[in-house]
Amino acid sequence: MEKGEEPPAAPSFSSLKEFRPAGRGFWSHVSDADWNDWHWQLKHRITNAEQLQRLMPTLTPEEFAGAKLANHKLALAITPYFFNLINPADENCPVRWQVIPRVEETHTATWEMSDPCGEDSHSPVPGLVHRYPDRVLFLVTDRCAAYCRYCTRSRLVSNAAGYDFHPEFDKQLAYIAAHPEIRDVLLSGGDPLLFSDEKLEDLLTRLRAIPHLEFIRLCTRIPIFLPQRITPELCAMLKQFHPLFISIHSNHPRELTTEVRDALGRLADAGIPLGNQSVLLRHVNDDAEVMKAHVQKLLMCRVKPYYIYQCDLIAGSAHLRASVRQGLEIMEKLRGHTTGYAVPTYVIDAPNGGGKVPVSPEYVLSRNADRVVIRNYEGKIFEYPEAADGTPLVEAPREIEEPELV
Ligand code: SF4
Repeated sequence: MEKGEEPPAAPSFSSLKEFRPAGRGFWSHVSDADWNDWHWQLKHRITNAEQLQRLMPTLTPEEFAGAKLANHKLALAITPYFFNLINPADENCPVRWQVIPRVEETHTATWEMSDPCGEDSHSPVPGLVHRYPDRVLFLVTDRCAAYCRYCTRSRLVSNAAGYDFHPEFDKQLAYIAAHPEIRDVLLSGGDPLLFSDEKLEDLLTRLRAIPHLEFIRLCTRIPIFLPQRITPELCAMLKQFHPLFISIHSNHPRELTTEVRDALGRLADAGIPLGNQSVLLRHVNDDAEVMKAHVQKLLMCRVKPYYIYQCDLIAGSAHLRASVRQGLEIMEKLRGHTTGYAVPTYVIDAPNGGGKVPVSPEYVLSRNADRVVIRNYEGKIFEYPEAADGTPLVEAPREIEEPELV
């Protein structure tokens, strides 16, 4: 932005909800066949500071310095498709903040960690995190289509920091097979949908052969970074492994393009229930109107908003972290103000492996053996009689003027 220029006006709620194609941008000369080929998109990713500056001369000094350093910490990679969602004229473009490195990534606060969720210390075999009693996280790769600058697994993904992740499927599968209490496996990484159809099919077949495994989940950001990957062949392969759920990762309504809506529709048509996980991020979605447009748009893509995560205490992410106070304010403006299906659960992943803890605005004002005093989304207060001893209730719930706090 030139000195003295006005920053771009914030988009209206209705424009946030519009579905638009990403467009071709610098790649207008590329054939449709290439552009729609996920291998072509991966091969032509933007992966260094010079490429980025050539395509985006408005790169700020903080971004250029960050891009120069990125390949020592968390690699820089952006698919051409996703790059086209960036508004180069807007330094505060919400897409830009998510994928363009900044020099602030080198600043680490004392409370930040390289493994904030304590995954490594909960891994009985490399690449398998067993933190909850009945389910495991199965890390299949350290590669992603593009890299999110706030990634919880920055220590591992892209291998820029030299983690040298080599999952051993035989050992991971043997652990699951030997633990009948595990009924649910979540495939993640990196991004499992970067595998070829054949490789993923082989892994899913081996998992389905474990009799006590009830449920498989797959965690991916590919539908957002690379919707071209969601081919009819992939969907036909995945539908053999039901019950199979997919959690996608989208943070801002601008990410939900017509291409993404179509890709998600193909997955939904294959009978795959879809949920979305967002990370609450400063400059991106720390705004109730943006979040409301996002969750409503997700429903239009047949995706249930599942979680909003408080950003983990990952090293070098302070510039992207919004506060818990902001998260609670956003939840307050969603619950009751929009469709219940659109309201995700806001969670903090407790540092050092404490697991997900839901946090919510307070709706229970007081509670004793006989009654609960609650408030609704409009701030109206109600008393609800409780049958503490099991006797039938005779008093109907009523609205009260003031809470009778006990
Ligand atoms: S897609 Fe997921 S695993 Fe990959 S960089 Fe983004 S948050 Fe991390």
